[in-house]
Amino acid sequence: MDAEPPEGFEGEGFFATKLSSVIGMARKFSLWPLPFATSCCGIEFMAVLNPTYDASRFGMERNSFSPRQADMLMVCGTISKKLGPVLKQVYTQMAEPKWVIAVGACASSGGIFDTYSVLQGIDKIIPVDVYVPGCPPRPEQIIEGVMQVQALCEGESIRRRDMPEYKNLLESYGIN
Ligand code: SF4
Repeated sequence: MDAEPPEGFEGEGFFATKLSSVIGMARKFSLWPLPFATSCCGIEFMAVLNPTYDASRFGMERNSFSPRQADMLMVCGTISKKLGPVLKQVYTQMAEPKWVIAVGACASSGGIFDTYSVLQGIDKIIPVDVYVPGCPPRPEQIIEGVMQVQALCEGESIRRRDMPEYKNLLESYGIN
């Protein structure tokens, strides 16, 4: 995938743009996913990595199973209430900036498991940036979710994570 240069001014021998645009572009094409896969949606995520869908095109082929070396948490599958604290710990161990995708109905809302033991959406315990619908979503839908995160990265101010609104959001989840 060819990257479009950020908006700026160019002339013979020079190109000028905003620092935040360059950082946004770098983040957009170097997302490192952490697949938190617990059930069937995880299989769909695996399909995204195969040669047919080729996640490498998005600069995201390097999966991380360490939260400290990942910036895109992909929650694929049913999350029980017992597992909730583990997911939250993984999220808090990821360095800023970080983004979260709820992949599929279970991660987004509990899906068909409207029962006492299942978390009715991971946004009950951590902030979510993108929700991918479906049970399961097709790989194309997961890729669309990744592209939505890319759009967020590209357009995000480098100051956003220091802003009171963002800190308030984390505090509302008991994260600081
Ligand atoms: S959304 Fe459907 S496919 Fe995905 S984990 Fe839940 S039951 Fe399985």
